[in-house]
Amino acid sequence: MIKNIDHLGIAVRSLDEAISYYEQALGLSCNGREEVPSQKVRTAFFTAGDVHLELLEPTSADSPIAKFLEKHGEGLHHVAFATDDITEQLQKASKAGCRLLQETPLEGAGGKLTAFLHPKSTHGVLTEFCSMKTRNETESIPK
Ligand code: ZN
Repeated sequence: MIKNIDHLGIAVRSLDEAISYYEQALGLSCNGREEVPSQKVRTAFFTAGDVHLELLEPTSADSPIAKFLEKHGEGLHHVAFATDDITEQLQKASKAGCRLLQETPLEGAGGKLTAFLHPKSTHGVLTEFCSMKTRNETESIPK
């Protein structure tokens, strides 16, 4: 089940320049940076209320974010919904006719599991599901 909007993903050319906009013009403070090799991006997170902002800078020319920037320029890249069961959510979306970009969830920023729906099948919005449960937590032996 979807619980809330977890974050908005925003594609930027330069993490440093975008961070200074969010800090200086909006007065937010950066929660941290992280490189996500599975998606060839560097990310920086901000928090506004219950919603996070995920700034995304490509780390290579074949990164999906590099391709997005080429086509659309900087701007809103995806909307991420937190779910308690990412696999169930993917099955539901698939049954409803959505195109899944991943059949199995990937390791995303913050160690979360993450999977995307193609924007052509979601009325134009690249849609991410993310779940707090990390692979490590899933695999760890209960105390
Ligand atoms: Zn995201």
